[in-house]
Amino acid sequence: MAICRRCGADHPPEELIRHELPGLTLVHCPDCRGFMGRYRRHGDAPRTDRR
Ligand SMILES: [Zn+2]
Repeated sequence: MAICRRCGADHPPEELIRHELPGLTLVHCPDCRGFMGRYRRHGDAPRTDRR
């Protein structure tokens, strides 16, 4: 669960709004659209944006 610091709602990760950037995922609250965090993806094998 991830708890929104702005509106206090908690959601399972699959309900969060995700913005995939190269090497980075930003997540936003689906209720208030507040920024909830960012995840670096060093560990993942990049499947996109690598040429
Ligand atoms: Zn929220």
